[in-house]
Amino acid sequence: MAATPSVETAARGAKSSATLEFLKSGPKKLLIGGKWVAAKSGKTFETLNPANEEVLALVAEGDKEDVDEAVKAARKAFEEGKWPRMNPHERTRLLLKIADLIEKNAEQLAELETLDNGKTIFESKNIDVPITAEVFRYYAGWATKIYGETNPSTPDVFNFTLREPVGVCGQIIPWNFPLLMASWKIAPALACGNTVVLKPAEQTPLTALRLGEILLEAGLPEGVVNVVTGFGPTAGGALVTHPDVDKIAFTGSTEVGKAIQRESVGNLKRISLELGGKSPNIIFPDADVNMAVFGSMMGIFLNQGQVCCAGSRIFVQESMYDQFTDSLSQMAQGLTLGDPFDPNVRMGPLVSKEQHERVLGYLSAGKSEGAKVKVGGDRGPQERGYYVKPTVFTGVNNAMKIAREEIFGPVAAAIPFKDENDAVLQGNDTAYGLAAAVWTKDISRAIKVARSLKAGTVWINNYGMLDPITPFGGYKQSGFGRELGKYAIDLYTQIKSVYARL
Ligand code: NAP
Ligand code: MG
Repeated sequence: MAATPSVETAARGAKSSATLEFLKSGPKKLLIGGKWVAAKSGKTFETLNPANEEVLALVAEGDKEDVDEAVKAARKAFEEGKWPRMNPHERTRLLLKIADLIEKNAEQLAELETLDNGKTIFESKNIDVPITAEVFRYYAGWATKIYGETNPSTPDVFNFTLREPVGVCGQIIPWNFPLLMASWKIAPALACGNTVVLKPAEQTPLTALRLGEILLEAGLPEGVVNVVTGFGPTAGGALVTHPDVDKIAFTGSTEVGKAIQRESVGNLKRISLELGGKSPNIIFPDADVNMAVFGSMMGIFLNQGQVCCAGSRIFVQESMYDQFTDSLSQMAQGLTLGDPFDPNVRMGPLVSKEQHERVLGYLSAGKSEGAKVKVGGDRGPQERGYYVKPTVFTGVNNAMKIAREEIFGPVAAAIPFKDENDAVLQGNDTAYGLAAAVWTKDISRAIKVARSLKAGTVWINNYGMLDPITPFGGYKQSGFGRELGKYAIDLYTQIKSVYARL
């Protein structure tokens, strides 16, 4: 049996009484068919605060039997329930209500996110929670705008298409933006009339569970969204291989994405995969250098670098390489590393011990490959918590391990390039293709380079702009399928053609 967590110690820094109440209200359960239930095995696991390594809560460890129940509930809600048949205006109102409730509970959600993930309260308050509400609001608008088509035909035929929901969607999400990733998955699925079984990451289950309560409070019919917490190979694997799941939407590592593609083949599920990246961020000497330094800093250090589209390979033209990396390093050194609840702190701990060890391993690899630590390069000075100093490596070449593998931590690899052609060649020399950026005042060069980069998103003179209006997803081994915007409607619907002889 796991020890009973001491919530006050574990949640130090949280100010909202609602946060403590949520953590204290007993072991967290699974949401299945509109009810909160323990795992059938009775097992639980601990979720930790990565800032102090204390236990925040015990969480039900869902497994195959629980996934079976959740899929049954989702199937029943889809085949018999009112959600897929509801007046679209009513569906819009319900999604808007969810957005309002997220905002009403913003402080608690931000605190839970910071506690579970380690990201700064500055980020969870200003990025994760407000954008989550915005995503629900954006897809609320879509519920009334999903059309079929009338196809040209002779007068004795009426030929049209229907755009129908896919059915039961298994959604598996990572720990880097736990609540926001839940919204990218759930909101479009609901707008299209699907039902859902969500599997949050084991490291960060809390905000998905709180979101489950909010969905019920908003009046979502039972079984429409089910939340099964647990581990990847067991709970996640059971969803992926389940014969009655129609679609899997996954965000996470490329390695697990490939396994999902292999293992989901049984009933030929629709799949969409949003995977890793090693995104090139290219700086030309004619850029606004101050903006480029700041943007590059945010591009790699936001969320402790645990961002799939992080600008982890910073390509700088040779003539300005030393000057630029000096400025970037100075700025990185100015980022306060520490207690994520301190409003002045801009970098918290990494999410877990495992991730901490992984990232420290890459710091050693960089040093032994001959890259130079310009700043950082080590764990933080804190006695407890999974801290890593913001790190800039110089003298990197694109063949080094730290330039090829996704580190998913606050580690920038600064690589020199000769000219535009060289920048594009090196930028594209990667297995990934999630995002890229280019900094220059020359509009022609900006557009030409943007066209040449093999990536699902390219930023010009900024790093990391995202909007629920605009599609997001990968080229190459960064996955396939586009989330956000109207493209997510394609992921969560299928087309039926109807020919009627009149
Ligand atoms: P991960 O294993 O890919 O985890 C993502 C999600 O998939 C989690 O919910 C995980 O569950 C689940 N999962 C794991 N194995 C599964 C399986 N066999 N079948 C079904 N679901 C499965 O990522 P991670 O291990 O947490 O992180 C490892 C690395 O992945 C990171 O260092 C980073 O490089 C990359 N990553 C990328 C992204 C991204 O957005 N592109 C996000 C996260 C991580 P559990 O967490 O419960 O095991
Ligand atoms: Mg945690």
